[in-house]
Amino acid sequence: MIQITMPLNFLGTVYREIRQSLVDMGQMFDLLDQPAEVSDKPGASALAVAGGAVQFDKVRFGYDAQREILKGISLTVGAGESVALVGPSGSGKSTIGRLLFRFYDVSGGAIRIDGQDLRNVTQDSLHASIGVVPQDTVLFNDTIRYNIAYGKDDATEAEVIAAARAAQIHEFISSLPEGYETMVGERGLKLSGGEKQRVGIARTLLKDPPILLLDEATSALDTETEASIQSALRRAGEGRTVLTIAHRLSTIADADRIVVLERGEVVEEGTHEALLARAGRYAQLWALQQAEERAA
Ligand code: ADP
Ligand code: MG
Repeated sequence: MIQITMPLNFLGTVYREIRQSLVDMGQMFDLLDQPAEVSDKPGASALAVAGGAVQFDKVRFGYDAQREILKGISLTVGAGESVALVGPSGSGKSTIGRLLFRFYDVSGGAIRIDGQDLRNVTQDSLHASIGVVPQDTVLFNDTIRYNIAYGKDDATEAEVIAAARAAQIHEFISSLPEGYETMVGERGLKLSGGEKQRVGIARTLLKDPPILLLDEATSALDTETEASIQSALRRAGEGRTVLTIAHRLSTIADADRIVVLERGEVVEEGTHEALLARAGRYAQLWALQQAEERAA
């Protein structure tokens, strides 16, 4: 019996670790479609986050040597600032997210967090500092509590509730007869897209990362869900550095700064109002989306 349970326990641990990393990867939605190609440099130290300022300094990158995708991107997100990245499909937005997570190393320039080059810090410490809110949250066939606490086994009741409150899902959960013990997932209560996403936000908030990387859902949610997710995300971003990869401009109009990307280059940068007044690329994209929304 002992001979059997020992390896099973061991396998259980390994399985859990693999599953955890798969979930974390899954949570990176289209940000991560490949495993990391980089490893810690010998003697790498843990990232020491002060305010969580992110700096892309003349970053060059290509997935292969034939085609350069990012052509000297400079982009900063100050500590506690909220910056949105917009641009046509294929312009390199998700690539920027992958590089911030250091799934690849840059081929030119550098990416720094609070002045520390990502290549000099451990990946564990880097990943622990960046929270990703997925477009599509994977729910386990378990309780809501389990699903929120997933990834932080030692979370206290108070922490779970605080995260749920911040994600604006606590009231909904409290309204269920079994509250946080309600079974969800395939075999339990089916949550709506918006509810699932808020569970995902709560899960991320529980880890309390100084930096948030948001890849906005491309699929249209209904207006009310959209508004509730936006307000949950805004609250989640308070006191954190936030980089949002946006597809629909209407949801990021209130960002501190908007960076417009085109073919791997920053072509415009400013607030929504300033960019509209400029009557350039952003103003064009905005007019286009407004027209599309009216047509829909
Ligand atoms: P966006 O998120 O702005 O739509 P991406 O960063 O996903 O753009 O893609 C930028 C460019 O990089 C595109 O031309 C895309 O085809 C290319 N690309 C993305 N991922 C890979 C990959 N894994 N291998 C090769 N090329 C890729
Ligand atoms: Mg993308």
